[in-house]
Amino acid sequence: AKRTHRAGTVIFNAVQANELNRQKIVEEALVAADLERELSLVYQPITCVGTRRCIGFEALARWQSPRIGRVSPAEFIPVAEHNGRITMMTRLLLSQALAAARQWPDDVYLSFNLSPHDLTSPESTLRIVAIVLKSGFDPRRINFEITETAVMHDFEQASASIQMLRELGCGIALDDFGTGYSSLNHVHKLPLTKIKIDGSFVRDIHTRRTSFKIVKSVLALCAEMELQAIVEGVETEEELRILEGLGVEAVQGFYFGKPMEATATIAVLSPPMLE
Ligand code: C2E
Ligand code: CA
Ligand code: CA
Ligand code: CA
Repeated sequence: AKRTHRAGTVIFNAVQANELNRQKIVEEALVAADLERELSLVYQPITCVGTRRCIGFEALARWQSPRIGRVSPAEFIPVAEHNGRITMMTRLLLSQALAAARQWPDDVYLSFNLSPHDLTSPESTLRIVAIVLKSGFDPRRINFEITETAVMHDFEQASASIQMLRELGCGIALDDFGTGYSSLNHVHKLPLTKIKIDGSFVRDIHTRRTSFKIVKSVLALCAEMELQAIVEGVETEEELRILEGLGVEAVQGFYFGKPMEATATIAVLSPPMLE
């Protein structure tokens, strides 16, 4: 191959090589992992803005590898999707999440992230349906979060899988709305029940007029389409106030709670009595 001596290119290649190397390390550790022991879930509250009460929890995966330590789901989920271990992961995690959700009151729901893989064949979706049915947990209290990438690969199949989950009684949220390949087409063609507005729009909502306007118009779209909107990544009182002013009903983020162990969720649901 032709070599270039331009510093920028060399540095860029070094960064790419490092990333590839890291990916390989994660991949090898994942293949060897004892998923049942090493994988776990934490739960982040979803809060009703009007009442300040927790109305649900999103389950978020954690992996503690004895070989390479803690790995972020943003890193290992794509690798697991690539090598197929995601099937086993979804199965383990969903059962675990449903067991945790059993301890919550009836009006608190579980939000669970699905991978593209879970929507690419009738079999993989039926496996999810089977886990839900076997758990005995009310499917109407489950919300599955899907991303637009999941839908993009094979729209027809993804759409059929989503329909299957809807018929079971589950809600479906389109995650990270506004990032990536957002297409209004998806919003209108899929049987969705919720939209999760990505935290990146909240980060600078008080300084950037554009972010404010985007959130405002997405909220209007949601109202029009009768979709519930959840705003993610709310970290400060100031952000919350602006969102409240825009009529946002539900939020998620560090302001109301960081992802926590299942045992800690109970305390969030039964706050101490006010004096
Ligand atoms: P996501 O579904 O968009 O999840 C929200 C992410 O934002 C979580 O990162 C959460 O910890 C983080 N977050 C929550 N509140 C705030 C906030 O106020 N500020 C900031 N800066 N961040 C906040 P996490 O847990 O690292 O998960 C990363 C991604 O990995 C998730 O993004 C999701 O796409 C994926 N993921 C996590 N668990 C699962 C899973 O069980 N299955 C699948 N398929 N994907 C998962
Ligand atoms: Ca999510
Ligand atoms: Ca999200
Ligand atoms: Ca995200």
